[in-house]
Formats: sequence, C-alpha cells, structure tokens
Amino acid sequence: MKTDYDVIVCGGGPGGVGAAVGAARTGADVLLVERYGFLGGGATAMLVNPFMTYFAGDRQIIHGVLQEIIEGLLDMGAYGHPKTPWAFDAEAVKIVCEQLCLENGVDLLYHTFLASCAVEDNMITEIQVATKDGIKHFTAKIFIDSTGDGDLAYFSGAPTEKGRQADGLAQPMTLNFRMANVEIASMPPVEEMTERYVAAKTRGEIQCPREDILIFFTTQPDVVHFNQTRVIRHDATDPVSYTKAEVEGRRQAWQISQWLIGNMPGFENAYLQQTAPQLGVRESRRVMGEYILTDTDLLNARKFSDVIVCGSYPVDIHNPDGEGTVLKHLKPGEWYDVPYRALVPLGVDNLLIGSRCISTTHAAHSAIRVMPIVFGIGQAAGIAAGQCALSGVLPRNADAAAIQTELLKQGGSLGDLNPTP
Ligand SMILES: Cc1cc2nc3c(=O)[nH]c(=O)nc-3n(C[C@H](O)[C@H](O)[C@H](O)COP(=O)(O)OP(=O)(O)OC[C@H]3O[C@@H](n4cnc5c(N)ncnc54)[C@H](O)[C@@H]3O)c2cc1C
Repeated sequence: MKTDYDVIVCGGGPGGVGAAVGAARTGADVLLVERYGFLGGGATAMLVNPFMTYFAGDRQIIHGVLQEIIEGLLDMGAYGHPKTPWAFDAEAVKIVCEQLCLENGVDLLYHTFLASCAVEDNMITEIQVATKDGIKHFTAKIFIDSTGDGDLAYFSGAPTEKGRQADGLAQPMTLNFRMANVEIASMPPVEEMTERYVAAKTRGEIQCPREDILIFFTTQPDVVHFNQTRVIRHDATDPVSYTKAEVEGRRQAWQISQWLIGNMPGFENAYLQQTAPQLGVRESRRVMGEYILTDTDLLNARKFSDVIVCGSYPVDIHNPDGEGTVLKHLKPGEWYDVPYRALVPLGVDNLLIGSRCISTTHAAHSAIRVMPIVFGIGQAAGIAAGQCALSGVLPRNADAAAIQTELLKQGGSLGDLNPTP
C-alpha cells in the first residue's frame, strides 16, 4: 500500500470528490480516504435529494465537477423528474463519482476512518486512519479536510466553531426517508398534506418538531422523498449525542411513514422503502480561516477578487430549537462569491478545507452548504492543494489568480471573472 502522497483528501462527499478530481488534474498524486464503501456523502449516505439551485435567474453559475456529475447522471438516465428537475438517483451518483475519481487517477481507500493526526510546527506530518487491518499512517504535502464535520481540522488544532452564536446550537439533523409504491396522482397538494400533518401533531399522533411537509419527487416513478424528520439539540461531533439522535430520527421516520400509510390519500399501498444509511447533518463544526464569510456578504451579493465558486442559494436556517425555518433570499438573478481565503484555516499551514465546513458564520453556512456549491468549494481546494504541493508554496500564500486560471481550465465558472465569449 502506497502511504505517501502529494495530496490526501479526507472524506468523499461532494467536497471530497471535487477536491480529489481538482487536485489530480493539476498533476498531483492524490489519495481519497472515505469511511463508507462508496462516495457521495450527503447525496448517498444521507440520501439527500435533489441538488439545490446552481442558477442565478436563468444563468447557470456553477459548472466544473458538478457539471460533469450531472452529465454522467444524464447519460445514465438518472437525473431529473418533471416536478423536481434536479432530482438524481443516489446509486448512479455513487458510480459517477467513483468513475470520475478513478479516470483522473485518484487512489480510493474505502472503509477507512480518519481517527487522528500528528502535527509539528503547524504542519500535519501524518494522518492516522482506522481500517479492518488496524491503524494505518499516511503522509502528504497538503491535506484537505472534506469530512463535512471538520474532523481533520479539529484533530490538527485549527480553530473551529459550532452552531449559532447565542447558544452554540446547530441546525437540526434529519433522517431522510423514502416512501415507495405511492399513487402520486392521488396525493393531495402539499399544502393539504401539511394541514393533515399539523392536525395529526395536534392530536398527539406524531411527535416531530418540523412544522410542515417537505417532500421531493425522485427519479423513480412511485417513490417520494421525505426531508421530514427533525432532531434538535444534538451534536453530530459528540458520539453519544449523535447515537441518541439517530435513534430519535428513526423513531420519527417510522411514526410518520406509518401515519402516511393510514391517513394520506395516495399512500394506502405505500411502504417505507428506506431510511438513509446515516442521519443527515446540516451543520457541525465550522473551521475558522483567513476570511469569515457572513450572511451580510451573501445577501448583498458581495464579489471577491479571490472568488472560487459562486452561489445563489438563500440563507436557510431550520430552527435548531423547534419549529420554524428562516429563509432569506437574494434579489432575483443575483449571486454571491465564495472567496478562496475562507478555505484556508488559521493555525495549520498545510491544510485546506474542501467541504461545507469552510470559514463562515452560522447563517452563511446555512446557504453555502448545499451540494452544488460544495462541489465547487472542493474542486477549488483540490486545485490549490495540487498547485501548492507541486510548487512547495503554503496554501495561505497561494496565488488566487493561478487557482482561478486552473479552475476555468477545468471547466469551472467564476461569475464576473468568467472570460467573455
Ligand atoms: C437533511 C439534509 C437535507 C439537505 N438538503 C439538501 C438539498 O436538498 N440539496 C442540496 O444541494 N443540499 C442539501 N443538503 C446539504 C448537503 O447535503 C451537504 O451540506 C453536503 O453534502 C456537504 O458536502 P460535504 O462534502 O461537505 O460533506 P458530506 O456530504 O457530509 O461528505 C463528507 C464525507 O466524508 C466522510 N467522512 C466524514 N468523516 C469522516 C472520517 N472521520 N473519516 C473518513 N471519512 C469521513 C463521510 O462519510 C462523507 O462521505 C442537505 C443536508 C441535510 C443534512
């Protein structure tokens, strides 16, 4: 087993896939370690669906690895539903992500859990991972934290924050689930579904803090996706708390699914097809970096000279404490920039963040966390890591213009910095 690389990416979700492909295309040799036996992270392990917006008005503002994934899914007939155009087949995502990594020469190591790391003089000297063959040690010039939870940043001593400022509570977790054999034509409008659901909650038939029904259609004709359970006041980085949260998520999923079968038109012959392999984590650690992106930046559609990806998804905070969701939209057609400096953590010199846990406030995280933006964050982190590893420059001293040039070469988009046709 090769144990020394130019770049090691920890975690294979949207950020990790973007990072591994982005780094490999710079000529770096790249290892991606992933705790599960497949890639995709939120898109597969948390059964999240669909991709949220990658458009500002009519203009597509995110391309790059995201676009390649979408084209791969389209080729497999695994993308889109008339009512949920950005729905995808999670099994196809696993294959498309895997093929993209392998075609670009990324070494994949599955069933490998990042457990710790060693640090000397602000440099990560090795990571330690748990495998079925015991603890293994890997070295690299540059490491990328794509764990979503900022595990590597935390282990290496980089500063992290959790949750909202007032009380540290993070957004709720959700165990996504799917109902199959649904007679979709007989389903009432979602507003009526919500009325029935709220009435059932009032009668004490359902215990779930979510205030309304949140469903999406899938690429399977009779399958409806429920982003419905809401598990509050738990911490995804505390194993005891996370275990209790999984148990509560499963209780809610079973209760709501059985209530749907007994009470909702269209669901008479339906069944609970699956719950996600893992309780979905919206927010955990955020790694503090050279710049902290705020909701004011996003809502003012702020542009940065070191932009690495654009987004237009709104501030979307599911109440960490109970019912309710705060949504703050940009003006139609506008977008914000994510700056490279938000990917560069304080305190550790050979680490980049290629994941939802970049340097933001709680509110800004609620917007930039969606998968299309995170694919772009990851790809930029990968490019920066590859360039730094090959040139011996530290990420905080990297040339943002060189990262942008390579991003555009790799098919990425940079909003106002896109070359005019
Ligand atoms: C309930 C819910 C609904 C959402 N809805 C949407 C939606 O509709 N559309 C949308 O676009 N986005 C949605 N999101 C957001 C989106 O799914 C995530 O923010 C996104 O997947 C983050 O990507 P990531 O690569 O940073 O992290 P993740 O997708 O979490 O990937 C992290 C990867 O790292 C691996 N990993 C973690 N720790 C370790 C470790 N220690 N060792 C080894 N491997 C590790 C994980 O197994 C995983 O594969 C939702 C999220 C949730 C939870």
